[in-house]
Amino acid sequence: MAEKITAYRFDCLADTLSQMNRETCTIFAGGTDIMVLHKHRRGVPPKIPMPMVFIDHLSELKQVYQNNDDLHIGACCTYSELLENPLIPFALKQAMKTIAAPAIRNRGTLGGNICNASPAGDTLPLLYVYNAKLLLRSVNGERLVEIRDFVQGPRRVQRLHNELLTEIILPSVWKEDAYVIFEKVGNRHADAIAKVSFAGFIRIRKDRIDDIRLAFGAVGPTILRSVDMEKKLLGKMIPLADSDIAAIVADFAKMIRPIDDQRSTAVYRKTVALNLLRYFLSLKSS
Ligand SMILES: Cc1cc2nc3c(=O)[nH]c(=O)nc-3n(C[C@H](O)[C@H](O)[C@H](O)COP(=O)(O)OP(=O)(O)OC[C@H]3O[C@@H](n4cnc5c(N)ncnc54)[C@H](O)[C@@H]3O)c2cc1C
Repeated sequence: MAEKITAYRFDCLADTLSQMNRETCTIFAGGTDIMVLHKHRRGVPPKIPMPMVFIDHLSELKQVYQNNDDLHIGACCTYSELLENPLIPFALKQAMKTIAAPAIRNRGTLGGNICNASPAGDTLPLLYVYNAKLLLRSVNGERLVEIRDFVQGPRRVQRLHNELLTEIILPSVWKEDAYVIFEKVGNRHADAIAKVSFAGFIRIRKDRIDDIRLAFGAVGPTILRSVDMEKKLLGKMIPLADSDIAAIVADFAKMIRPIDDQRSTAVYRKTVALNLLRYFLSLKSS
């Protein structure tokens, strides 16, 4: 006989949070990571160890709005929804377009990508360079966490069992006046998990670097970003001197320590990551 599982689907966020406070549940947004994580044999439904709570239909988690200069994105917005939304920054849309195929983009959510915390998650490098803040809610209230503090390692995030990620906030996203790029290297342009990815953010004032942020995906257990390295570039004249580019690439070469896995080799990942960095730093120099 098929095993029974308990699943909850409440009409509102408050009831969902109350249930999560009573018992530990598996949060099910789009389910595109969960179903793979718990997959069983072919033809056999996944075995999910805890009661499930569905959240993807909750309207409180599907809003996208501007608050002063900040952009608030509901955790349960799917990629397909966000791709249609004029408030979403171009670079973030570029990253979302590279995710899987339309069927997965119709189900997968931004909140799910963050909470799954894969180092190859395609939205993460950009969210790091946007200094994204995450709003977590529980019956006890809410708190804001920086994305780099929230993500601890693959599938490990700093979340209490009764908390839900409700919003992703991109601070001052319209005021930044920055040039932002996302690059993903995979086996093909679509429907491929990243072998390595890179996000770069640069703002130039009076021919000098006023702000720069650099983040690498799939080269370590979490997204790699080093504020110390970025500080070394602040105030430098554009175009950057070759020696400055070489120095920062050499510094990152010491920090980037990828692994071999079924998708790529450590040597390839490191070489490509450094090439992407060199490309970004010289892009603005030409
Ligand atoms: C065929 C296929 C191709 C894929 N290709 C890509 C790709 O190219 N790039 C990429 O980055 N990813 C890819 N993915 C992974 C996946 O689609 C994304 O990570 C997606 O964003 C996950 O969102 P979800 O809503 O489906 O998450 P779910 O599977 O519902 O949840 C993922 C995890 O996050 C938790 N969670 C979800 N929402 C919340 C919340 N609001 N608060 C707290 N915890 C929460 C869940 O409990 C679970 O642990 C692929 C997956 C598949 C199956």
